[in-house]
Amino acid sequence: MLLWSYFSVVLTDPGSVPPNWRPAIDEERGEADPLNGSEFINLPADPTHQRIRFCRKCNQLKPPRCHHCSVCGRCVLKMDHHCVWVVNCVGALNYKYFLLFLFYTFLETSLVTLSLLPHFIAFFSDGEIPGTPSTLATTFLAFVLNLAFALSVLGFLIMHISLVSANTTTIEVLYFPYLY
Ligand SMILES: [Zn+2]
Ligand SMILES: [Zn+2]
Repeated sequence: MLLWSYFSVVLTDPGSVPPNWRPAIDEERGEADPLNGSEFINLPADPTHQRIRFCRKCNQLKPPRCHHCSVCGRCVLKMDHHCVWVVNCVGALNYKYFLLFLFYTFLETSLVTLSLLPHFIAFFSDGEIPGTPSTLATTFLAFVLNLAFALSVLGFLIMHISLVSANTTTIEVLYFPYLY
C-alpha cells in the first residue's frame, strides 16, 4: 500500500487549468467579458465572488485556489506544495494519494521501529549481545532512522489532517492567509 500510494502521487497529474477556462459566475450573469462589465458596478457585493486572478507566466486566467508552481512551470489546481520527495506537485487530483502515502509511511516506519525495539534495548543491557558487529550497527542505524522518520511523518500527518479538516492548504495558510 505504501508503494502503491507513493507511485500514485508521483504519477498522477495534480490538476491543470482547462484550456480557455472562464469564470462560471460571468456565464450565470450573461456577462461574457469581465473587462467591460460596467453595467454591474452597482450590483450588491457578492461574498462568494472572488477576484479573478491572471497568471502572467502561463498567460491565462487562474481559477480560485489555483497557484503557479515555479518548479513545474505551470498553474496547478488547489496547489498544496511542490514535493521534492515525490518529484511532483501536490494538488487537487493527487492530494488523497499524498495523504495515504503519509499514513502508510507512518505505519511502516512505526512497525520497523517496534520490531527493532527489543534489539535496541538489548544493545544497552549488560548481558551478552548476539550477532556480528555489522549486524549490530545496521540494526542500531535502522532503528534510529525509522524512529526519526516515524516521528517527523507523524507531525506532517497531523498537520495535513488539520489542514483538510479546515478545508485549506499549505500554500493558503503560509502565503495567502488574507485571501481565505
Ligand atoms: Zn501559471
Ligand atoms: Zn510543482
